[in-house]
Amino acid sequence: RKVGYAIVGLGGYGLGVIIPQFKNCQHSRLVALVSGDAAKARRVAAEYGVPDRSLYNYQNYDSIRDNPDIDVVYVCLPVAMHAEYTIRAAKAGKHVLCEKPMAVSAAECESMIAACKQAGKKLMIGYRCHFEENNLEAIRCARAGDIGKLRYFRSEHGFVAGNPNSWRLKKAMSGGGSLMDIGIYALQAARYMTGEEPISVYATERTDRNDPRFREVEDMIEFELEFPSGVLASCMSMYSANQNHILLMGEKGRIELEPGTSYAGNRLWVGKGRENEVRPPPGPGATQWAGQLDHMAQCVLTGREPIVPGEEGLRDLRIIEAIYQSARERRRVVLRT
Ligand code: NAD
Repeated sequence: RKVGYAIVGLGGYGLGVIIPQFKNCQHSRLVALVSGDAAKARRVAAEYGVPDRSLYNYQNYDSIRDNPDIDVVYVCLPVAMHAEYTIRAAKAGKHVLCEKPMAVSAAECESMIAACKQAGKKLMIGYRCHFEENNLEAIRCARAGDIGKLRYFRSEHGFVAGNPNSWRLKKAMSGGGSLMDIGIYALQAARYMTGEEPISVYATERTDRNDPRFREVEDMIEFELEFPSGVLASCMSMYSANQNHILLMGEKGRIELEPGTSYAGNRLWVGKGRENEVRPPPGPGATQWAGQLDHMAQCVLTGREPIVPGEEGLRDLRIIEAIYQSARERRRVVLRT
C-alpha cells in the first residue's frame, strides 16, 4: 500500500515544491491538506484529487486523528510553528516529517522527540540532501578515501533576502537569520562530509542593523567547527548574496560541489581541481524529494528508523545555539559530546 501524507502549510515549499512531488513517488501519496486558507485548500485539493473530507484548518487540525488515510503529517510551516504542529500530530497518532530547521531551540526539539516517542510514532527531518545523488556520491568518495586523509572543509550558503516583513526575518517566527534558514545546509554538509561531530565552534556575525531586513535577525555569520580528527570546517551563511558551495580538501585531492544543495543543477568534482566532473549514480528516488518522501513511507511500512530522525535535527540545533553563543560572547564554545 501507499503511505498517506497530510501536508501542513500550503506555502512556497509545501505547495510549490512538495505537493507536486507525489507523482514521482512509489510508496507515498497525498491524502490531506491543512491550511488557514479554505479557498486555497479547496483549489489545491481539486487539482491533486484530495477529497473534501480531508481538508483541515489550524483549529480542527487535531481531528486528523479520525482520518485513517493519514499516516504521516508533513510540517511545512514557519519554524516557530514546527514544535506545536509536530506534537499535536504525534498526539493524534500520526508519524511526522518536519521541515528544517527542526525548531527554534534545542529544548523544543527535545519535546518533539519525546512526544513522538511517547506516541510510538516516527519523526524525520526534511534534510533532502541526504537523498540527493551528488551529495550521496560526495559522501561515498570522502568515506572511500578518494581524497586521502581529510583536512579542511568549506561551505558558503546564501541568498538575497527581499521582503522585510517575511516570517524569515522575524526572530519570533524564524528563531534566527541566515544560519537557521540556509547556514544549516553548510553545517549539515560539514557533518555528513566529514562523518564527524564538532567538538567546538567559533563564530563571528556581520549584520547591518540599519537595514530594515535585519532589525531582528542576522545577515552574515561565519562559523568555524573543530572536529576530533583535526579537520577544520569554515562555514558561512548570508542573506545578502547568492552562494551555494561545498568544498572538502584532503591530502590527495578535493571534493567540490557547486551548487551543492540546490533543487536542481548540482555539480560535483572529485580530484585535484575541477578537471574531473563526476556524474553520480542515480539517488534513491526519481528526485531528492521523492527519495525523501518514500524513505519515510518505507520507515512507516517496515518499522525502520529514518536516516535523518529528530535526533539529527536536535544535533544541529545544539550546534546552532553554540554558534550564536560564540558570536554573542566572542569566544570559542566547546560542545558537549
Ligand atoms: P512560506 O512563507 O512560503 O510558507 C509558509 C506557510 O505557512 C504559508 O502557507 C503560510 O500561510 C503558513 N502560515 C501559517 N501560519 C503562519 C504564520 N503565523 N505566519 C506565516 N505563515 C504562516 O515558507 P516556506 O518557504 O514554504 O517555508 C516553510 C518551511 O519549509 C520552513 O520551515 C522552511 O525552513 C522550510 N523550507 C525548506 C526547504 C528545503 O529545501 N528543505 C525550502 C524552503 C523552505
